[in-house]
Amino acid sequence: MGKFIYLDHAATTQTSEEVVNAMLPFFSEKYGNPSAFYGFAGEAEKAVSYARKQAAALIHANPEEIYFTGGGSESDNWALKAAAEAYADKGKHIITSKIEHHAILHTCEYLQKKGYEITYLDVDSDGKISLEELEAAIREDTILISVMMANNEVGTIEEVAKIGKTAREHGVLFHTDAVQAYGHIPVDVEEMNIDMLSASGHKFHGPKGVGILYIKKGVKIRSLIHGGAQERNRRAGTLNVPGIVGFGKASETAGKTMEENIKKETVLRDHLIKRVLEEIPYSRLNGHKTDRLPGNANFCFRFIEGESMLILLEQLGICASSGSACTSGALDPSHVLLALGLPHEIAHGSLRLTLSAETTKEDLDFVVDELKKIIERLRHMSPLYEDFLKKENKE
Ligand SMILES: *Cc1c(COP(=O)(O)O)cnc(C)c1O
Repeated sequence: MGKFIYLDHAATTQTSEEVVNAMLPFFSEKYGNPSAFYGFAGEAEKAVSYARKQAAALIHANPEEIYFTGGGSESDNWALKAAAEAYADKGKHIITSKIEHHAILHTCEYLQKKGYEITYLDVDSDGKISLEELEAAIREDTILISVMMANNEVGTIEEVAKIGKTAREHGVLFHTDAVQAYGHIPVDVEEMNIDMLSASGHKFHGPKGVGILYIKKGVKIRSLIHGGAQERNRRAGTLNVPGIVGFGKASETAGKTMEENIKKETVLRDHLIKRVLEEIPYSRLNGHKTDRLPGNANFCFRFIEGESMLILLEQLGICASSGSACTSGALDPSHVLLALGLPHEIAHGSLRLTLSAETTKEDLDFVVDELKKIIERLRHMSPLYEDFLKKENKE
């Protein structure tokens, strides 16, 4: 077998073995419906309630503030649509940022059609929103602020605690899409003044198709999924017991290993960034230099098409991404890179490499060595690069 180097952990992660093992009995012998009355179902019910505690503990929430959902996209949709509806009598203005995940941006577009008004905050060249601009955007009729905790493409970590404080001071609800942050960096919903928070299992070595929405006690919110009385009447549907158990287990493990993993990944990431910037000409790092996810590196290479780079990397067994998984295949450059102020032709040449604590330095060195060759090859085929070299030589 050839090499296999997985550097797309922002798209999804491998469900860890201990998580899979924790889930297995709930497919087979412990298959009861947690809502049922008899003792046999009690085991499933207990397992769900334990998972709720494990998830709550990771973000300093109360277990009764954790609602299990079908993943990050559902949690984002629920937070925005249902809060918008519940607070419509107070106003119809929502503030978000230009670099949100499409689960937020497309939900905002939907709400716009339903008569809500959305303000999309700009970000600076590092991908951070400005607190002054946020404050200036808040109006009498603002009901919700939704700003992500960490960006899935460029890895920038927003100043969520300050955003939360501003929201609270103005009596506005604050939701954060923490899908890339939960399980990776410390989150404290109390300290950060967070009213609602989305997370997803498969982004931190848990299973796919399960997530949470943290809803602070006292927040009014309607149901998004109507039916049975599950999740305290707020999210209908028979609980995904194995998925929930897996989410809980992955949360517990993340809590135990976080500090060590952050250290490991940061060293690897910074080694990767240093080598790329020093050894590959006309390259730049996208996103904040230090306030960034420990596992994220995102680069632009001038005169290069991101897609061509991905194809050549894939031939070597390297999984990487350009823009986000949802937009690859589309010809438009990433909305995030454009929001950072990069011109179209540069935003096209982006490469995202996202690591895990299992990534090795040897793998990264191999990737950089190969990337150097790939970029040289592609540039030699690029008329833009030739023109550029001619101009350089004239000067
Ligand atoms: C992956 C992701 C989502 C969507 O989560 P799913 O569980 O895949 O639906 C939402 N927001 C961010 C920031 C993400 O990275």
